[in-house]
Amino acid sequence: MEESLLTIKGVGPSRVKQLNKLGITDISSLLTYFPRTYEDRSATYCIGALKQGAVGATEGTVLHIQEKKPRRGLSILEITIGDTTGRLKVVLFNQGYKKNFYKVGQRLHVYGKVEFAYGSLQMNSPHIEMLREGQMAEAGIVPVYPLVEGVSQFVVRQAITNWFASHDSLPELLPAHVSQEQNFMSRYEAFKEMHSPLTVERYEMARKQLAYEELFIMQAGLLLLRAREQDEEGVKMQPSGNLVHDFLEQLPFQLTGDQSKAFQEIATDMESERPMRRLLQGDVGSGKTVVGALALIKVVENGYQGALMAPTEILAQQHYESLQELMKPWLQAVAAEAIGKEETSTIPALKMALLTGSTKTAERQAIYEGLATGAIDIVIGTHALIQEAVQFKKLALVIVDEQHRFGVEQRATLQRKGTNSHMLVMTATPIPRTMTLSIYGDLEVSLIKEMPPGRKPVLTYAVNSTYKERLYVFFEKEMAAGHQVYVVCPLVEESEKLDLVAAEQLYEELAEKYNRKFGVGLVHGRMSASDKEAVMEDFYKGRTKLLVSTTVIEVGVNVPNATIMCVEGAERFGLSQLHQLRGRVGRGNTQSYCILVSDSRSEDSRQRLQVMTETQDGFIVAEQDLLLRGSGQLFGLAQSGLPDLRLANILKDIDLLVAARQDAKRWLGQVGFDKGISQMKPELKRRFGESFQRIIYS
Ligand code: ADP
Ligand code: MG
Repeated sequence: MEESLLTIKGVGPSRVKQLNKLGITDISSLLTYFPRTYEDRSATYCIGALKQGAVGATEGTVLHIQEKKPRRGLSILEITIGDTTGRLKVVLFNQGYKKNFYKVGQRLHVYGKVEFAYGSLQMNSPHIEMLREGQMAEAGIVPVYPLVEGVSQFVVRQAITNWFASHDSLPELLPAHVSQEQNFMSRYEAFKEMHSPLTVERYEMARKQLAYEELFIMQAGLLLLRAREQDEEGVKMQPSGNLVHDFLEQLPFQLTGDQSKAFQEIATDMESERPMRRLLQGDVGSGKTVVGALALIKVVENGYQGALMAPTEILAQQHYESLQELMKPWLQAVAAEAIGKEETSTIPALKMALLTGSTKTAERQAIYEGLATGAIDIVIGTHALIQEAVQFKKLALVIVDEQHRFGVEQRATLQRKGTNSHMLVMTATPIPRTMTLSIYGDLEVSLIKEMPPGRKPVLTYAVNSTYKERLYVFFEKEMAAGHQVYVVCPLVEESEKLDLVAAEQLYEELAEKYNRKFGVGLVHGRMSASDKEAVMEDFYKGRTKLLVSTTVIEVGVNVPNATIMCVEGAERFGLSQLHQLRGRVGRGNTQSYCILVSDSRSEDSRQRLQVMTETQDGFIVAEQDLLLRGSGQLFGLAQSGLPDLRLANILKDIDLLVAARQDAKRWLGQVGFDKGISQMKPELKRRFGESFQRIIYS
């Protein structure tokens, strides 16, 4: 399977280079490069025979290309193709930059829904393939692979077809009894079916089988990971005492039921013999920080140190500030000590530090020392915490916030700075519970579902761009009332560069409009981290009132004063992503608004945006999102450092997942840890790489 691509007929060095661009480096990555979709070209019609309302394929020569801009922010590219029987308008929206891709005289194969508009046949956003001189479009059920610039469908199709033509088997992976029980076809057949399905039924069987295999391997990996950790001994904490109790007493609010329960679960874990591995999951604004603070207090009460790691400086800063606020009485004790006053009560002094990339050298040295001697009890920070120089005297708890920003390896590095420290991962990524248990198989889950009392739901509206002037008046009104506004620019899928153009345009427009009265800021993905932080800081401190941004708004940034989240081109975002964006407002006690601007006329987009206007519940949103888009798109999951599933959809295939987990458990019970590791190691490494580092390399 790690055979070179050059062994395939028709694949030479230049083809290899092209395939490499797609991440295909050997036979096994070629075979697992599954089609994005399939086209049924059993019939390619001549244009004259296309039936209105039907989905079909046709071919024609480009006669005419025209870009229209009926209004600001909308571009329509019309490519007219024709054959001897008629003409067809191929219409692309907001892809004006493609106008130079196509040339008059070129032959195109298009596949899409045939419509009739303004007196002519048309296809909106069909799938288009350019045919080279003399090239025939393929027939039958044709795989459509995800591509990047400079690589054509033909290159991938040919490599795959030729590989299958010269091979007739593949090594099996699953334990034989499992394949038998499940009535699986051979792996060779299953892979072949994925790339060139014979029938819909067989394709579905093959997909299920390979999805099952993928889930089985992942679950086996997670079970092995868990088995290894269960052997380790943790730092056993005493039942909560005075400090935890006093801390709870002086909180300005009462914990919600879910918060109390989560802390109870955490406390129980930390009081046991084993290191805690727990995921604290709660929607944005549900109050995870205070639960984390309690865990830190508990560790300090036991005479140990705790660390909290956040993905960005501004988040670390915010955590630092809110923890200082929560722990004020004890920090004052420190201050009293510092000026030589006798401690007046039994309140123990607590020392907390903030360590980030921009911490000044002298201070950094002092913090390193404080951590090494144990003088500092709690440290909040960014990646700066996982640097070599950071040594703890007795680290017992590591909290990682907004986990999907960190890879599994990074959280492990911090954790190794203690001896089997307890670990708490906090995340707002709304993953339905059934799934969490299985995806984060190595973590127990605490869930905060209930919001703190008194939160006003964010009023959410879906509008089209004719509302622009009204929106601008509304922004002005809110800013005049001292509030702040986020405006998120549409996402242009193909290019970050175009994202930037859109963002800059919008920024200029808004800056011109408001800059005299209210500061306007711009933040985008191409800025350096420090520039980004500076812009965010201005907004956080209220120096700018309106922030234009591409999608980089820092996860978890807390600006309670912001009351409007306006998202342009909202149909281009995933629902979970919209939900995350919406979570940036509604954090104070003033009424907040989320405005989703979209000119899409597709029924699907309308439905999706409607989900947003109808529910505030991140779990419902996530579920809908998964159903509509598939699991790979789940916000955050892609960068989570978690295994990347190619075939399984963790929501739709939940039954498969449950079965795979059970089978993997049974299998591991039969073969035992050592044999299990040696059998699964190569496959785990190949598929999931560093996600499973801890078992693969240890
Ligand atoms: P997140 O879960 O998104 O990290 P935070 O921990 O930042 O949420 O909490 C959001 C806000 O809710 C904070 O201002 C916090 O002080 C407040 N909060 C947390 N728990 C409660 C509670 N039980 N009652 C009232 N307010 C709370
Ligand atoms: Mg938070």
